[in-house]
Amino acid sequence: MTPEVQALLDRRARLLGPNLPTFYDEPVHLVRGQGVHLWDAEGRRYLDCYNNVPHVGHCHPRVVEAIADQAATLNTHTRYLHETLLDYVEALTATFAAPLDTAILTCTGSEANDIALRMAQAVTGHTGVIATDHTYHGNTMAVSQLSRTNPPPGGTWDSLAFVPAPDSYRQPDAAAHAAGFAQAVQDRIDALAERGHGLSCLILCPYFANEGFPALEAGWLDPAIAAVRKAGGIVIADEVQPGFGRLGTHFWGHQRAGIAPDVVTLGKPMANGHPVGGVVTRPEIMAAFRERFRYFNTFGGNPVSAAAALATLRVVQEDGLMENARIVGEHAREGLRRLAERHASIGDVRGSGLFFGAELVLDRAARTPATAFARRVANAMRDRGVLLNFLGIHYNVLKIRPPLPFSRGNADEMLDTLDRVLTETPLEP
Ligand code: PMP
Repeated sequence: MTPEVQALLDRRARLLGPNLPTFYDEPVHLVRGQGVHLWDAEGRRYLDCYNNVPHVGHCHPRVVEAIADQAATLNTHTRYLHETLLDYVEALTATFAAPLDTAILTCTGSEANDIALRMAQAVTGHTGVIATDHTYHGNTMAVSQLSRTNPPPGGTWDSLAFVPAPDSYRQPDAAAHAAGFAQAVQDRIDALAERGHGLSCLILCPYFANEGFPALEAGWLDPAIAAVRKAGGIVIADEVQPGFGRLGTHFWGHQRAGIAPDVVTLGKPMANGHPVGGVVTRPEIMAAFRERFRYFNTFGGNPVSAAAALATLRVVQEDGLMENARIVGEHAREGLRRLAERHASIGDVRGSGLFFGAELVLDRAARTPATAFARRVANAMRDRGVLLNFLGIHYNVLKIRPPLPFSRGNADEMLDTLDRVLTETPLEP
């Protein structure tokens, strides 16, 4: 680690407090980004294979210009009238199937999920929530309760119940896997009823991103969702990670999963780095929420945020970035499958569009997670100038999720580097 990086880490700890997450054993000190590339303070260039926030590429000129123009004209809170917010919500909801055609804009995905939970309370009159046991939905007091990996002091609220996260790699019988998931949901519905909470909602990422994006066919969730609907609950799809065309085949993860959620929450890529999140729902759920809770968000959907989000959406649509995600993602997964022929550590290759990866194992037959190895691989990739990371139930799945203008050439560079790193890194626990 250079003395400059160590000094920054020390300063962060002193000013911001301890236990702050950073990526990689040697954190990267970034000073500039353009397209799919990033540069550190020493002038070293990195290929960004990880960041979904700069959805249409780092510092995309059209988004930068929209932010700068609007910031130079007017920025104020949201109790005045302004067309750009309405133009954006019209353009956004046009990407959803009816009747999902009303929206609230927030500043983060956490807020969006918090609102979604309150919408579920408003329409059902109940408080019970079901989520998977390896998810992350954000950091407000309510949604942080849904992260099993970070249990709150005093224990998790009694109104929450968790089902085991899907794992397609270790449960290859898709029908039995889906039935097992639905049965677990039903058991939690019964438990919440017994505990006096009733069911307000099932909240999930339709791509199960944090769970390691298991390969699940469209319709896999149908039995679980039928159980939720029968119990009077609603379905919330957290699209913070898979949304906005990243999956290549569909604009939204829930469309790819073949489900029709009642509420959809949005964040990260929505305005290419400008802090914008959102909640999309049916008019009657919006009305129930607005009548039950008087809701106002000072910054959510302000003129600059709306302009940034509108420019980002337009670039995705006009530059054909969803189609690029489909083509380049397919090319990259073919490359990963070829690497798997030579590297026994690659147990599974999966994903969709430009959200994909490889599950790394110590032993293919036993499917033993190579957790420490995955970490070493991510660090070695970083040292060779390619940024990616790892996640999943066992934290052994390489997570590759670049800005959408990622090209075949970029994918080949990532694959060549991975080939070398997998060759050089000993496959040890
Ligand atoms: N939901 C999911 C699935 C996420 O991955 C995240 C952020 N990692 C959030 C919600 C929270 O978003 P934010 O950090 O903008 O509050």
